[in-house]
Amino acid sequence: MKKTLLALLAATCLQPAFAADLSPTEQAIVAAVKANNAQGLALLEKSVNINSGTMNHAGVRAVGALFRQEFDALGFQTRWSEMPAAMQRAGHLIAEREGKQGKRLLLIGHLDTVFEKDSPVQLWERHGDRVRGQGVSDMKGGDVIIIQALKALKQAGALDNTTIRVVFTGDEEDAGSPKEIARKDLIDAARRSDLALAFEGTSRNADGKDTATIGRRSSSSWVLEVKGKQGHSSAIFRGGYGAIYEAARILDAFRREVPEPDLTFSPGLILGGTEVTEQPELAKGSAFGKTNVIPNSVVVHGDMRYLDYAQRDRARAKMSAIAAQNLAGTSATIRFHDSYPPMSPTEGNRKLLAQYSQASIDAGLGEIVAVPPGLRGAGDVAFVAPLIDSLDGMGAAGNGAHSPNEDLDIPSIERSTIRTALMIYRLTR
Ligand SMILES: [Zn+2]
Repeated sequence: MKKTLLALLAATCLQPAFAADLSPTEQAIVAAVKANNAQGLALLEKSVNINSGTMNHAGVRAVGALFRQEFDALGFQTRWSEMPAAMQRAGHLIAEREGKQGKRLLLIGHLDTVFEKDSPVQLWERHGDRVRGQGVSDMKGGDVIIIQALKALKQAGALDNTTIRVVFTGDEEDAGSPKEIARKDLIDAARRSDLALAFEGTSRNADGKDTATIGRRSSSSWVLEVKGKQGHSSAIFRGGYGAIYEAARILDAFRREVPEPDLTFSPGLILGGTEVTEQPELAKGSAFGKTNVIPNSVVVHGDMRYLDYAQRDRARAKMSAIAAQNLAGTSATIRFHDSYPPMSPTEGNRKLLAQYSQASIDAGLGEIVAVPPGLRGAGDVAFVAPLIDSLDGMGAAGNGAHSPNEDLDIPSIERSTIRTALMIYRLTR
């Protein structure tokens, strides 16, 4: 009884609070977001129907051109930043406007997806309030949220005199090398900004609350190369174990001995036999081997994600030691490569989350809570997080990113756009 009464009171208090906690301009911003929502979904569909796997440069450019028109229409200065040809990456879209008031914002998105041109995954397949497709939540949904939020601000007259820089990278899923060039535009923009907001996909937590990201793990990679003595298969336990048994031993020991909280490592590609050819830049390769021949080579490509450098060094030392204890007639080497730095969960990032959550509460959309940093992999925001306060996971809600089941909760676009627009408005006063 008491509970019911309280719930009733809470419910009746929430309704008028919505209008009371938003200024007239903020209410106009929310109204504009809602009025433009169908248009935003159409833009998302158009962008998702263009395959933009990182290596499909024409596709990445086409998605960039589509979004560039939107920023042009909003009065931003736009340009396409080309990467040197040797890097084999499409480049980035940059849109900027300069003003004198409030905080200077950097908004981060990406144009590419993990689904290359030959991917069997459907481009766009809508079922009621959900849509499955290539990059719907990672992260074309987030890109559209940025555009729709800015559009609503413009319509409410709230964009004037603000400083906003937008960088949509064309190679977030597989950043070009060297990173100093691949991420120069992003880092330059961060140096001229006070804080960064990134729009990677989000999800609801177990309590049904929307979330955002104040910390992310790094991304790094490793390559394990195993050699064995080639011979007749009938001699396998006398003449040396061959490269495939040794690779299996090493990988299994990694799984059993190296794990710790917030650390993951996963072999993503393995090739083994007597002839192994690799095309690492295409994440492809081929192998030849006969069942009556002891295989002499294996190569494994894997990733590793960590929250800080001490954890990285501990894991690498254990993996190197495991790879050095070889079975008879085999040898192995392992190489490690850093890719994205970790984004540490700082006080400044927590403060941005609090502001984002407040905007959401004021709009009647509920509190936003932090995702445990150990659950998030790397993102472009990590390159700017060492320089300025940053918040990520402000994009669309969905499941199964990077898998054929990647999907998006369509109503989350409007929710995130409202919060984003209100937050940008408040930060730029
Ligand atoms: Zn992404």
